[in-house]
Amino acid sequence: MNDDAPTSLTINQSAPPLDLQRIIDDIVDRIADETERGHVATYIPELAKADLNSFGMAVVPTAGPTVVAGDADVEFSIQSVSKVFTLAMALQEIGTRVWRRVGREASGNAFNSIVQLEHEHGLPRNPFINAGAIVIADILLGNRTPAEAIANILDFMRRATGDDTIAIDEAVAESERRTGDRNRALANFMKAEGNITHDVEDVLEVYFNQCAIAMSCRQLALAGRFLVQGNALQDGGAPIVSSRRVRRITALMMTCGHYDASGEFAFQVGIPGKSGVGGGILGIVPGRASIAAWSPGLSAKGNSLMATLAFREFARATGWSVFGPLSD
Ligand code: GLU
Repeated sequence: MNDDAPTSLTINQSAPPLDLQRIIDDIVDRIADETERGHVATYIPELAKADLNSFGMAVVPTAGPTVVAGDADVEFSIQSVSKVFTLAMALQEIGTRVWRRVGREASGNAFNSIVQLEHEHGLPRNPFINAGAIVIADILLGNRTPAEAIANILDFMRRATGDDTIAIDEAVAESERRTGDRNRALANFMKAEGNITHDVEDVLEVYFNQCAIAMSCRQLALAGRFLVQGNALQDGGAPIVSSRRVRRITALMMTCGHYDASGEFAFQVGIPGKSGVGGGILGIVPGRASIAAWSPGLSAKGNSLMATLAFREFARATGWSVFGPLSD
């Protein structure tokens, strides 16, 4: 080995600070020019009312002020982004016993696939596909009523965000209840296999309501702070979730956060993220920032086209991919 070789990696500490406001303003301008903006989710009729031209972004860095751009204060349905928070709650509640009932592998199938569940005897691949999140809702029900479990989830979201106004969009919840037969099928099948312990309608009431929480990009990025640094957000002196769990949750976001396009998001963006069919994406850059982007038009795989593009541009401009900066 060459004696002159450095004995440790050095990080360029002298790089100029990033102008995050300018970076996201540029992204808003770039996105305004995009004409192919995807399709709104129509299988939940209330979501079909969203405006394809909407786009917002918010970044809450560990160093420096929060920056927002575009429709960052417009509320949208967080849908499956809620699954990150309910997983954190379930891990706090029953610890690693969560993993006896739900796996940690990417699914490679649609988020609401029934086929895979049958193959795997009612044990969902991961907590971010619908079946997995329904099991997590069953865990959060514990010995509570659905109303109490829903109130706990809202309370968690409000504490994480530091905003007591966060609420459920009742019209979206009702729309999900009316059209949720596929989720009913998943839940009933898992009940038959012994992996749902409560009444299916009670479990789904929790699940539909968590998906129907309405938040803006600013609120969602604030809510994600506890995932940036395990101990960064103190809540009455105690971290919301331990740093060990934060690492596990963000690992799952990277591998399973974008349905069966999770590999592509890791490849293109390299930031752990979780998307929802409302068009939102929450991204976590460990140690650096919590980021939310939203635009309701989806790709064929159910991820917001414009929010994905925004994350790609953001990772490129900041060099904050967890796999290192892009040099091209
Ligand atoms: N509530 C939606 C459903 O169960 C969530 C889908 C999603 O955002 O992935 O179909």
